[in-house]
Amino acid sequence: MTHDLLDDHSPLIGLLDLQDMRDTVSALHAAFDEVTAPGQHVLHTFAVKAASLAPVLRRLGGLGMGAEVAGPGELALATAAGFPPDRVVLDSPAKTRAELREALAQGIALNADNPQELDRIAELIDAGPGTTGGHGPIGLRVNPQLGGGSIDAMSTATATSKFGVALRDEGARARVLRAFAEHPWLTRLHCHVGSQGIPLERMAAGVRATHELAEEINTALGRRQVDTLDIGGGLPVNFDGEETDPTFAAYAALLRREVPGLFDGRYGLVTEFGRSLLAKSGLILTRVEYTKTAGGRPIAVTHAGAQVATRTVFAPDAWPIRVAAYDAKGRPKTGVPLRQDVAGPCCFAGDLVARDRALPPLAPGDLTALLDTGAYYFSTPFAYNSLPRPAVYGYAYEPDGTLAFTMLRRAQTLAEVVAESGGDL
Ligand SMILES: *Cc1c(COP(=O)(O)O)cnc(C)c1O
Repeated sequence: MTHDLLDDHSPLIGLLDLQDMRDTVSALHAAFDEVTAPGQHVLHTFAVKAASLAPVLRRLGGLGMGAEVAGPGELALATAAGFPPDRVVLDSPAKTRAELREALAQGIALNADNPQELDRIAELIDAGPGTTGGHGPIGLRVNPQLGGGSIDAMSTATATSKFGVALRDEGARARVLRAFAEHPWLTRLHCHVGSQGIPLERMAAGVRATHELAEEINTALGRRQVDTLDIGGGLPVNFDGEETDPTFAAYAALLRREVPGLFDGRYGLVTEFGRSLLAKSGLILTRVEYTKTAGGRPIAVTHAGAQVATRTVFAPDAWPIRVAAYDAKGRPKTGVPLRQDVAGPCCFAGDLVARDRALPPLAPGDLTALLDTGAYYFSTPFAYNSLPRPAVYGYAYEPDGTLAFTMLRRAQTLAEVVAESGGDL
């Protein structure tokens, strides 16, 4: 079926299993419903950077999710996808004055990254219609400096991370307490310890440190000023096999053990998961164009490389992905596995999505699938070699058992490639 969507003009597509996506969103909601207090306010936002496709966001919004955005493009996408302001959270370490003004005017929640940003927000609020109302909830991002995980680039809670207020630095805690005392509109704490590769225990320790700080602030101020904790996202995904591990339920249970106060109902909660909500629902499907050998190494040349699997190509040890092999009719390939490279179309030697990988022997016309790529892969293309962005389709079984495809992003046309490259100037 899906191989009908592949041809010479479109030898590469992204696919998203819409039922699987719905099931994963349900699993997230159920996991937290299980541990939260009756009536406790919980907003699960989706980190838009993990799948910046408006029709996907619209579906997630329809499933009761909010949107976590980090900049004007993602905010515009969330707005286009119909998220109401009270379900949007703006996080970014580099918000301009204009972005802050716009976010305050729209009433979306925002998390300040640093003291200078807090000063700007204070100026804008003072100049605005009044200190109460007229803006959404405002939080401060903190970095508990607990150390990193297995991928440096994904570790946001290291001693020298660029994100948030580094809590263990000299005088930082006192400055945070003073900021909350000075700014009664500052009502949230935010922490996101990292994405992929962070051990669950470290994520939970970050949430515990944030909860402890909230208690300390509220005790010092003698009022419950911090009313909501935004615990970020970052649940890792298993890229080694089919199994979903860890699950949202396991993480929620761990949080309940490690930070019981989070679930006594005194704080509202915000989460910001991305990868764990969509990675396993998506794949990239492409066609083998040629096969060859070089220095004795078999190589299959496909159309999926750095333009859709950027992290895997540039950091293959940190981001290995599974590759599945099918024949031209879409049937799983058989045959004695052969160690081979699976290459992309980009014009640099490192453009490989798998190196020396044992796979059934591939031939021109066969299909390869890059598995677990529903987040941060086809939705985050890289414009290298002016390769057009591939189409993305959602799929689901109709009640009568037929498989139906829906367009989630059109393939970029060559005219659009030219126009976006200054051809329209
Ligand atoms: C990227 C990011 C997320 C989502 O991370 P995942 O690993 O995709 O769950 C959440 N919050 C912030 C602040 C982020 O930067």
